Formats: sequence, C-alpha cells, structure tokens
Amino acid sequence: MSRSVLVTGGNRGIGLAIARAFADNGDQVAITYRSGEPPRELTDAGVLAVRCDITDAEQVEQGYKEIEEKHGPVEVLVANAGITKDQLLMRMSEEDFTSVVDTNLNGTFRVVKRANRGMLRAKKGRVVLISSVVGLLGSAGQANYAASKAGLVGFARSLARELGSRNITFNVVAPGFVDTDMTQVLTEEQRESIVSKVPLGRYARPEEIAAAVRFLASDDASYITGAVIPVDGGLGM
Ligand code: NAD
Repeated sequence: MSRSVLVTGGNRGIGLAIARAFADNGDQVAITYRSGEPPRELTDAGVLAVRCDITDAEQVEQGYKEIEEKHGPVEVLVANAGITKDQLLMRMSEEDFTSVVDTNLNGTFRVVKRANRGMLRAKKGRVVLISSVVGLLGSAGQANYAASKAGLVGFARSLARELGSRNITFNVVAPGFVDTDMTQVLTEEQRESIVSKVPLGRYARPEEIAAAVRFLASDDASYITGAVIPVDGGLGM
C-alpha cells in the first residue's frame, strides 16, 4: 500500500538514496531540501520537492502544509537533514556549535513535532532519525556534531516510550562513513585512516543506509521501536 513518506534533505547523498528507495516501493514521496535545485531524476519520478530550511520554524510549517495538501499527512518520516562544522574545541565558535545543534537536533525536533500531529490523529506512524556512529563513539574535532547526533538517540528513545502506546515507532539509524558530499571534505590520508579502522574495509554506499531505513519503516519492523541500528561496516562495535 502506498504511504505518504517525507525525507528531509532528500536532494542528495543519503537522503536521495532513501527517497529513491521509497519511490521504488511505490510510496508517495516528498523531500525537503535547503538550496539548489532538486534532482530531475526524483521530480520526473513524481517525487514532491519542497524547499524548506529546517532551522526556520515558519518554513517547516509552510513546507509541511504543502506536503499535507498534496500527499495527505505524513505516515513515514525520515529526518535525515544534517550538517557538520568540524573544529577543535578551542577553535570552535559559539556559532559553530549552535548552528550544528540547531540544524541536526532542533531542526529534527521541529519536523518530528509537526509530523506527529497527523500521526497521532491517524493513530500510527513511523519515524526514523539519521544519527551517526560519531554520536555513539565521539570524534575529535566533531564535539558539536557528536553532541547533536547523540541528542537524537535520547530524543528518539524518549519519544518511543512516550508514543509507543499511540502506535508510532521511533528508531535511529547510525551510519558510519558514507561516500557523499559530506565526506568529500576529508583528505585522502584521513579517508585511508578511517577505512583502516572499518572491519568491512570500505565506506558505505548511500543505498546501504537507505536499506536499513526502508526496513525500519516496513511491516517487518512492526515490533521495533527505540532501536539504534548502526550501519557502519563494524566501525562502532
Ligand atoms: P549531504 O551534505 O550530502 O546532505 C545533507 C542534506 O541535508 C542535504 O540535502 C541538505 O539540503 C540538507 N540540509 C542541511 N541543512 C539543512 C537545513 N538547515 N534545512 C534543510 N535541509 C538541510 O550529507 P549526507 O552525507 O547525505 O548526510 C545525510 C545525513 O546523514 C546527515 O544527517 C548526516 O549527518 C548523516 N550522516 C552522514 C554520514 C556520512 O558519512 N556521509 C555518516 C553518518 C551520518
């Protein structure tokens, strides 16, 4: 059965692979993106692309309304949008810290809260949050990012407890290193050092993260909530 699915940050990287996976399933997919143009591949496939900055509550409200008008209330929400601003602590500005938290954690709160209005009414819903292995292990130079991604775990587990009785599940996917724009900033040396620590000996493909997300939103995952699923090639074990 076709569901109304929203993927934030679905215009590229992991979000694009997730949007593709749901569209291939026959779901009605909407994506949000912050800037640029949405990929033709998605719009040609009937995916609704809405420009929306999740740090702006008003834009979240407007964007969500547009999706609701066209696809009905969101039944599956994948909160994927996120940023990094890496810096060692003593060089990290207040803005470096707060902007990462405001996007990755507060932005997720805004979208999840808005989508849950419809899920509560429908008495069902699936929410998958994209955290990171960095949120579980920590990472030098990424205290802002790690704090925001660890925050998502507490957020999801609290909501899993709060809203389980309302038939809404909250799960977290924690990717390791994935080949996307976000990791293009790493030097060849940094990439080699990361890969040497990954038991599977390589980066993930975005489709490998999308597969876990699609599973958590499927009927096969009907009894899973509050789970954190690492998709990290064994890096975090
Ligand atoms: P990316 O930079 O390619 O994509 C990030 C997406 O987030 C883009 O679509 C962008 O439009 C959106 N976005 C950023 N700020 C936004 C804002 N204020 N409002 C709305 N949208 C915004 O990165 P990616 O690698 O595809 O990452 C996707 C998610 O996966 C992120 O949450 C990231 O932290 C997480 N992640 C990535 C990796 C990795 O190695 N690439 C590893 C673990 C977790």
